[in-house]
Amino acid sequence: MQPHPRSVDFMPTPADPARQPRMTTATMHATLLLAAFLALSLSMPATANDAHATTSTPTPVPAAPAWLAEVEALYDADLRVAGLEDRTFAPEHWWQIATPLLSSRNGFAMREIGRSAEERPLRHVSWGRGKTRVLLWSQMHGDESTATMALADLFRFLGEHPRHPIVQRLRERTTLHFFPIVNPDGAARFQRRNAQGVDVNRDARDLATPEGQALKALHDALAPDFGFNLHDQRPGYRAGDSERGVAVALLAPAYNEANDVNEVRGRAMEVAGMIRAALEPSLSGHLARWDETFNPRGFGDMTTHWGSSTVLLEAGGIEGDPQKQLLRKHTFIAMLAGLDSIASGSHAGVPHGVYRELPENGAVWPDLAIRGGTVVSDRLPPVRADVMVGFRHPLAEQGGTISDVGDLADSPSRHSIDASGLYLVPIADAEGRIAHKRIVTGAPAHFHLSRDPEGRDIVWTLKRDVDPAHPRP
Ligand SMILES: [Zn+2]
Repeated sequence: MQPHPRSVDFMPTPADPARQPRMTTATMHATLLLAAFLALSLSMPATANDAHATTSTPTPVPAAPAWLAEVEALYDADLRVAGLEDRTFAPEHWWQIATPLLSSRNGFAMREIGRSAEERPLRHVSWGRGKTRVLLWSQMHGDESTATMALADLFRFLGEHPRHPIVQRLRERTTLHFFPIVNPDGAARFQRRNAQGVDVNRDARDLATPEGQALKALHDALAPDFGFNLHDQRPGYRAGDSERGVAVALLAPAYNEANDVNEVRGRAMEVAGMIRAALEPSLSGHLARWDETFNPRGFGDMTTHWGSSTVLLEAGGIEGDPQKQLLRKHTFIAMLAGLDSIASGSHAGVPHGVYRELPENGAVWPDLAIRGGTVVSDRLPPVRADVMVGFRHPLAEQGGTISDVGDLADSPSRHSIDASGLYLVPIADAEGRIAHKRIVTGAPAHFHLSRDPEGRDIVWTLKRDVDPAHPRP
């Protein structure tokens, strides 16, 4: 429970060139609290009962890869593929951009491995001649496109920089297999599920969908040593108990109900630890771990069960990065760090604690609270109420729906507007017609903030999408 309404914006800023973790007011606060807690616990006599309460020393995070700065500079100059600035691209658009990068001259092979429910091609791309097989698949949830963008950048790196030491290492020691946009019908609508309405990542047991069948058949044919299951998660997730948003979450999925760690899963934890090491310099405090509960319908859980050391990578959100273009770069770095640790063998022996001690994904904070105003709905008495708005695109603040109305003082939110002394009034057109007459839960977020209850003295307007030219009153 939060004692006060709050809105927190201290995500890393896209423009921040320094890759050093920045001390924000909140982290300084947390550090002081931690220091106070440590001082307190040191002053208290230890008893046998303290064994569980005492937190052990955190596992040291390995150094970031030596190539990090060089590859980040190369990425900005020469790897980011143009034409993918809008993350809601159609699958056909992505293939139009990716296909020229996938020439056999650049070492790629591509073949069709099936068709989606709506007959869109499902394609398998492979590259490299090494003995360690890795399978990366993206966008089995159609509205999770960040890694798909980063895969185009990775194709460019592999194909156009053949003499780069990382590329040479990957080519000689691994064979990389890609299944980009597993769910193209969902991607075409920018929706999670496939055209048949099925969540493809809950289809690993039934294999009822053509997309799930294609992924399983490809996995069976390749029997990969490693897997990368590439997703996006809601930007509202907080890192553990903190108020910090999660930029990237990792998971080495469980392969059984007991959440055991065998050799296969242990290797995935090592690779996840190396990915964490590469992301810490830029995303410290904004990294998390997904829930480890075994899901026999989930592909990541089952590919681990089937013998592939699988890492789930979830691109969350960075405030001020509405199209996830900064997160796309971090996703590229994350994939490359994982792959290079596999090619070089540097993951071997990385303590599982590096991955396991990441905070879990915590609470999901809703997007926008309008606090302290008075709601004026058509033919109803005005009511003093906070209003919560959820967006279909939370980072871009587009597609708003009213998600709650009432006393929301105890509900934190990603952003908030102080509407004290103001009225929320449904929007009327020039003829006085009102499209959405009531500001109630479930209704489109479509209203003026006004100084008067009639909506004449308007200070701010929300028509489902926040106007980027006037984002706040
Ligand atoms: Zn997903």
